[in-house]
Parts: sequence; C-alpha cells; structure tokens
Amino acid sequence: MASTTANPTKRKNDDVEQSQTKRFRFACSDMITVLVGAHEHRFTVHQDLICDSSDFFKAACNGAWKGAGTKTVTLRDVEQYCFKMYVEWLYDRTVDLFDLAHTCEMEFLEATQDVMPYKPDSIATHIVCQLWVLADFLGDETLKNSAVDMVERHITLLGRWLRTRTAAYVVDNSTPQSGLRRLMIALIVARLKPENLERIGPTMAPSLVLELLKALVAKQERGSEQDTGNNVDRCKYHEHKIESAKCA
Ligand SMILES: [Zn+2]
Repeated sequence: MASTTANPTKRKNDDVEQSQTKRFRFACSDMITVLVGAHEHRFTVHQDLICDSSDFFKAACNGAWKGAGTKTVTLRDVEQYCFKMYVEWLYDRTVDLFDLAHTCEMEFLEATQDVMPYKPDSIATHIVCQLWVLADFLGDETLKNSAVDMVERHITLLGRWLRTRTAAYVVDNSTPQSGLRRLMIALIVARLKPENLERIGPTMAPSLVLELLKALVAKQERGSEQDTGNNVDRCKYHEHKIESAKCA
C-alpha cells in the first residue's frame, strides 16, 4: 500500500524535475512573433510558454495557426511597455511587478496623453493595473491574481493611495465583478473621508459613485468590519476558473 506521508525530499526532487522538464520543453518549443502597439514592435516568445499561461494565445495556437508557417499575432491596442512587462514576467514569475512597473515609468509618461503630473508611486500602481487589464484580455489568470496581490500589498501594507485617475482607468477597463474592481472599491471605501470625497467626488465617473454608494451602504450594514486590511483573505480578490485552484 502506498504511503500517504508526504516526502519533502522526493517532492522537492519531483518539483525540480518537473521544472527542468518544463524549461526543456519551452526551450524546444516553437517561437511565435507578437507585434505590439501602433508601431508594431516585435516580440519573439516561446509558444509553449505563452500558450501555457494565456487562454488567448492557447486559442490562437489551437486555431488559426494549425498548419500555418509563420506564427504572428498583432496586438495593436496594447502598450509596448505593458507587453514587455508581460514577457519578462512569463520568463521569471518571481519578479516583483512593482519593480517591473518602475522600469517602465518613462515609457508610460511618453505614451500617456494626460498632462496632469503623476507621483512616482502612483505611476507604478497605475502600470500594474494596466498589466492586470492586459492579463484579463489575454486570459492569464495567474498574472491577474499576482497583480491584484501586488496592488493590495502596495496600498494596504505600504500605505499608498489609489489615485482618482487610476480608479477611473480600472472602471473603464474592468467589470464590477472582477477582482481588481472589487479590490479597488474596497480600498476606496476603507479609506474614504468626507474631506477627500469633497475633493475627488466631482471627478468621479457616475458609475464609480454608484458602486461606492452601494459598497458604503453594505459596509454600514456590516458594522465596523473592514473590507481590506493586513489579515485580508488573499484569495478574496482572485479569479479562479476552477474551484479547486483556489488558494489555501
Ligand atoms: Zn486565490
């Protein structure tokens, strides 16, 4: 009868073996070309790696490319620096998304038409939200959940503030049910003060005001319970297609 006792050494060896097998498979994988942005900046990525992570590319691999010679995808409406971050994350899942975002701040400022000044920290938060939106478009659940974790950590633990324009961007690019949107509403509600509301209220989109009102009423009904904080359930704002994939 097989033992049910976990063997950490064996598991570690198995993990290393699986990781090496995976890396070898990616190394042997075909390459695909992705043309990004208005200027069609060219990225070359291992097909197995990107298809393993993204439902969008998986569908492309299984459909349009069957039997095709050149494998090229064009993402015209995606910012080049966002896709560059995505590729860096694909090849190194341990990378800190805020560190990555900081490396793209100049490209962000060049790309944005917004003439209002951004504070450095708020740029990085905005870029990580852009990365979440890209991950949502590409159907990359792992990156979406990592981005949500990072935004929450940055704002809740490090005491950063979510800028109004970032909130507007999230409203414009997500559904009310999405993890990032729910997190953003919870973060605003947890920190909202009357003096802030007077200042930022007139700049808020009507749909955001309505969502905030609903969340405030719900908070009032629950009493003093906090929506976000240091002990927040990290899976609360994740999206998992499979129930069993939820974080322990
Ligand atoms: Zn989770």
